[in-house]
Amino acid sequence: MAEVHEGREAQHFPLPRCFFVPMDTSSYCPDLFSYKRYRTRTVKVGPIAIGGDNPIRLQSMTTTDTMDTEATVAQSIRMINAGCELVRITAPSKNEAENLQPIKDALRARGYDAPLVADIHFTPNAAEVAAGIVEKVRVNPGNYADKKKFEEIDYTDESYAAELVRIRERFTPLVLLCKQHGTAMRIGTNHGSLSDRILSRYGDTPLGMVESAMEFIRICRDHDFHDIVVSMKASNTLVMVQAYRLLVHTMMMDGMNYPLHLGVTEAGDGEDGRIKSAVGIGTLLEDGLGDTIRVSLTEDPEAEIPVAAALANRYLKRGSAIAISPVPVPINPFDHTRRHTRATAQIGDRNVPRVIMDYSQRSEITPASLFAVGYHYSVPLDKWNLSDLACDFIYTGKNAISFEIPGTLGVIQDLDAWTKNSSLDRHYPLLSGHEYLQQNDHSAAIHFITLSLNDLNNAMIQRLHNDQRAVVLLATSHAHGMAEQRAAFFTLMNAGCEVPVISARSYSNLTEDEFTLYSATDLGALLIDGLGDGIMISSPQTPMQRVNSAAFGILQATRTRISKTEYISCPSCGRTLFDLQETTGKIRARTSHLKGIKIGIMGCIVNGPGEMADADYGYVGTGPGKITLYKEKNVVKKNVPEAQAVDELIALIRENGDWVEVD
Ligand code: SF4
Repeated sequence: MAEVHEGREAQHFPLPRCFFVPMDTSSYCPDLFSYKRYRTRTVKVGPIAIGGDNPIRLQSMTTTDTMDTEATVAQSIRMINAGCELVRITAPSKNEAENLQPIKDALRARGYDAPLVADIHFTPNAAEVAAGIVEKVRVNPGNYADKKKFEEIDYTDESYAAELVRIRERFTPLVLLCKQHGTAMRIGTNHGSLSDRILSRYGDTPLGMVESAMEFIRICRDHDFHDIVVSMKASNTLVMVQAYRLLVHTMMMDGMNYPLHLGVTEAGDGEDGRIKSAVGIGTLLEDGLGDTIRVSLTEDPEAEIPVAAALANRYLKRGSAIAISPVPVPINPFDHTRRHTRATAQIGDRNVPRVIMDYSQRSEITPASLFAVGYHYSVPLDKWNLSDLACDFIYTGKNAISFEIPGTLGVIQDLDAWTKNSSLDRHYPLLSGHEYLQQNDHSAAIHFITLSLNDLNNAMIQRLHNDQRAVVLLATSHAHGMAEQRAAFFTLMNAGCEVPVISARSYSNLTEDEFTLYSATDLGALLIDGLGDGIMISSPQTPMQRVNSAAFGILQATRTRISKTEYISCPSCGRTLFDLQETTGKIRARTSHLKGIKIGIMGCIVNGPGEMADADYGYVGTGPGKITLYKEKNVVKKNVPEAQAVDELIALIRENGDWVEVD
């Protein structure tokens, strides 16, 4: 198995020494084991309300030019008809802000009363105009009162305090206008566009993101303005989840409970975009956090709504979910550290998380069956070719394999079937908890034991602790079993048991989109917290290839196993300077074989350089028909004509030694 030790290091976002990390997780989450929604205050936004007991609201953003009234109205209507409850429209200058009035009038005249949200970056004067027209204004605290110069400035306490006074002067008029007009506000921090002030003092950390919002929230509070919704978006799901948790913790400490707008920025498109969104948003929804969500896909905005709805609707009847007895929490929810496990064969410890594919429902398994899970048998060459998405094990249940398996693949069989094949290389038994306790020894190098939380009594944990060849397949029979699995991991950790654990989930009667989103939520929420040495997803009604690619997508989105190129592409909006969907398609067609490379594709500079910090290469619109190329945060080629920009990007990747030819 070639990937041993190739996984990226766990990501740590060090907090300043003075920052107290609370181990009492109730300080960010109402209950880690029995679902409860974090109770926020209710904020009225035109005819609807966000927070409190209101349903999780769905929203999206137009991609049309805001000055094109008819196109913006038509797209807004398509979004509303798809279920969008708040429509965000960019207002880069006063002109666009003023044009929100005819857009609003046209929508109301056609019977659409969905509240409108003006999206503001850099332009307080546009925000102040919009506050008198639309129902909600979004400001980005990273650029509302600051022109970013990307300078590292060494602030003294005095000069930092002077900056805060300047921000207060700049921001207060908008707060007072919102108060006067009954306009709500989103204070929307983006990981990629933190101010130089915040970056200089806190770095681009979750703590910096929270402090960035808190500076603005404190000004609102001082003016007794509370119609605030807060967001902490990042394209890195680990940063995003940690920032929201830290925000809630900070609000709780300060006696605040403003509603949360959840989103993963620049999630990309297709399956990858859905998985990344579900990992970030779903993890927080499982914690009971989130009052409104926007799924940012590089697709038409109306395509985002069914995805957002599928994520949110899963929590509509969540009150009846199972209750799990609380377990002491042995992890820091504001940091990512992988659970320490021993290596059993090539599972656990520092090995990348393994993928097991479930073939137990198949009546027959042939070489062709393995095509869907990354193994292609070449008859003329008489050899197996592996793709980057080749799974590590297949579970065949009672079935036997009657052909020579690829050299990197392991086969897991139920105990009685395995007994007939126990001499075969790379065949391993799967035992129930009962079978495991009954047997004294197993001749295989490793054996898998399927267990759930209830099986983890002292005798079982002791046995697992002493058994160097055991791997647990952690199951749950509940549709909402993430908390149960989390409790099982904590139980093992609290007992000091370092047995490797593969998280297993089973799904049925779901659409393909629901399957993707729910599996990404359930398994992503565990992996984000460093829990799990692998995953097994069973979904008999879903094509095997889709299940396999979802499994690898979840590992990629949680940055625990990188197996493909990552595209950090923005959803586009009225600021976009080129066709995002078409360009992303072109770049993907040329670079999708560059495993491990992250390419940022941004419609404009608003989040550009900051987001490039998380990308290896960047392609950013800087003017009509003009593209600027980045290597990480640094501009490498400015104002490249759009027609040549993809070729230039490839050339840049070559120059930096990251290009590989397609096999
Ligand atoms: S990065 Fe994309 S979505 Fe964000 S403001 Fe620019 S064009 Fe709009």
